[in-house]
Amino acid sequence: MDNCIFCKIARKEIPANKIYEDEHIIAFHDIHPVAPIHFLLIPKLHIDSLADADDSHRDLLGRMMVLASKLAKTQGCNEGFRIIVNTGRIGGQEVFHLHFHVIGGHQHLPGMIHQG
Ligand code: AMP
Ligand code: ZN
Repeated sequence: MDNCIFCKIARKEIPANKIYEDEHIIAFHDIHPVAPIHFLLIPKLHIDSLADADDSHRDLLGRMMVLASKLAKTQGCNEGFRIIVNTGRIGGQEVFHLHFHVIGGHQHLPGMIHQG
């Protein structure tokens, strides 16, 4: 995926404010944080979105979920956090390389979806 920005981060072609990296996964701070703690987890493997994940990705997705929780705590989300996976056009996805947003650090996060 030559022009994918998150593949470029995975290939170290562009910098990121990284908090974790292993063979399969990278976590880095979101460039436009919406809360005091806001980082992203991406698989190094390019998957367009969660809608494109299949059974072959089960282990990877499980690792990402467990890691998201561990990193949330080490980043300071002591009393909870929110994981968001914007998926597809309707889900408001802007970068089409699967990623988990991990958000926290407020006393309380706002409700799920603003109505009206
Ligand atoms: P979305 O695809 O809507 O779930 O969100 C994409 C997220 O990626 C946004 O919150 C952006 O601020 C973030 N983002 C885009 N480019 C970068 C980058 N180079 N480094 C860190 N975060 C980024
Ligand atoms: Zn990619």
